[in-house]
Parts: sequence; C-alpha cells; structure tokens
Amino acid sequence: MSVIPFDDRDGLLWYDGKLVPWREAKTHVLTHGLHYASCVFEGERLYSGRIYKLKEHTARLFQSAEILGMKIPFSEDEINNACIEAARAQGIVDGYVRPVVFRGSEMMAVAAQNTKIHVAIAVWQWPSYFDPKQKLAGIRLAISEWRRPAPDTAPTKAKAAGLYEIATLSKHAAERDGYADSLMYDYRGYVAEATGANIFFVKDGQLHTPLPDCFLDGLTRRSVMALARARQMQVIERHIEPNEMAEFSECFLTGTAAEVTPVSEIGPYRFTPGNISEILMHDYAEDVQRPVSAVTI
Ligand code: PMP
Repeated sequence: MSVIPFDDRDGLLWYDGKLVPWREAKTHVLTHGLHYASCVFEGERLYSGRIYKLKEHTARLFQSAEILGMKIPFSEDEINNACIEAARAQGIVDGYVRPVVFRGSEMMAVAAQNTKIHVAIAVWQWPSYFDPKQKLAGIRLAISEWRRPAPDTAPTKAKAAGLYEIATLSKHAAERDGYADSLMYDYRGYVAEATGANIFFVKDGQLHTPLPDCFLDGLTRRSVMALARARQMQVIERHIEPNEMAEFSECFLTGTAAEVTPVSEIGPYRFTPGNISEILMHDYAEDVQRPVSAVTI
C-alpha cells in the first residue's frame, strides 16, 4: 500500500496560530528541534467528529513542554480550540490529531533559551477499523534489546521526541524479524511497554500492568483501568519480572493508536486472547464514541 507523503497532502494545518496550506507548513533545516530533539508532541484520535480526551491530551502536551523547559505561547484552551479548528478545516470526522511543539532556528547549539517555540497541529484521516474477530487473533511482539531509561537519565514523563529514538530502533528490528512490534524492558529489567503503547496482562481474572515510573502513563491505559474497575475487575500496578510472563493467560496493548490490541506472543511467551481482552476492547470502543467519556482518569 502506498502512503501519500506527509508533506504532500491537500488542505490546511494549524501552524503558530493560524491555518496555513498543508504543503507550505515548512520549517528550516537548522531547526533546534530537529538537531537536539527539543520537541514534544501528542497523538489524539477523532471519533465521529469528537477528539477523545482532548483536554487530557492538551494538558499532557503542556506538561511535556514544561519538562523540556519550553513555554508554549498559547493557552490550553487555545490549543484545544486549534485542534478542533484543524480537524474541521480538513473536514475529518474519524482521524488522527498530531500537535507538535518544538524549538525554532534562532540558535543552533545545545543552549537554546532564545529560540521561538513553535506549535503545529495536523489532522489526517484514520478510520477505526473495529473487527473484533481479527483483533482477537492477537499480534506478535519481539523483545527489544533497548531498555526504557531511568528517570534521571532522560525526561521519561514527557512525550518527548528524543525518547522515540530507541522505540524506532526497536520497532525496526522487530519488523525485520517478522513481528508487529517490540516489548521493551526498563533499565532495571522489568517489563515496561511496547514502542508506542502500554501493556496489560491477565492472571486469574485480574489485570496486572507495569508501574509507569519510567515510561508514559498512557491516557488509554488509565481509561482502560477505569473501565476494568467499573466492571469490578481488580487492577494491579506493580513491577513485573519478564519470567512472570509465563504465568499470564492474556495480554493486550493500550494506546491512542493501538486502542486495545490483544497480544498472542512475546518472544518465547504465549498468550490466548480471551474474555477479558474482548470485554475491554468492547468497553473502550464504546467509550470513545460517547459524547462525553464515561470514565474520568
Ligand atoms: N507509551 C508510548 C511510548 C507511547 O508513544 C504511547 C502513545 N502515546 C503510549 C505509551 C500510550 O499513550 P496514550 O494511551 O496516551 O496514547
């Protein structure tokens, strides 16, 4: 399947306060964000014309920027409205929303206090193909050689571009070996997350998920925990050792893009997507379609 390059599309995107023609939303090659990864972003999904958990995503964008020492020159309300404006301008009802914040080209060295902070928001078509049968077959994950870094090694709470370097390397290695994605351990050797999604396991009807103390505490992760608790399921957040994976019956990933995606295999470990994955896939698919989400996170 050929993909239309992302810089060669029709329509408009929001850039530094106004809608601009998509192909003209350019930045210079000497942009600090490109050279030094002074860049944070969000990934949001538009379902039936509404952006799911928009305010929470915008709040996280501001937190990520603050962690990287960048002051976004707009308010959270202005960014919320800009996301909606960018979606409307493209006439998209089921799609993906990508806000990105980065340092400009006024300075080109490690120190960059006087760079302009740019904000862009692009929206593109991305319908949610919900075929529970196909999803319940589960995806196969490799185990990455890269580890999620310690919180005093990288800004692990931010959704920062720099943290994705090892995610891309992990995903490329997995795809080369025929896997869909890769599971990453953390700096201590505990199970952490996939390259762009959080992970859950099932044992005796209870959910177990790694404590997000050195990786993104995903908004989908939190929604799914709330949905599970609403069904009286017990959810246990804790450190998980790799060899414990032998004792779990089901496994699934959560993320804005992944939604709830069952996993059948991680390296030598096998899982059988079942009841609990199916229930939560279904509950999440319902929640994203509600005018107001049923769960607070
Ligand atoms: N971890 C990483 C590394 C991610 O990129 C994502 C996707 N944003 C997630 C977890 C899941 O986060 P969310 O549920 O907020 O999309």
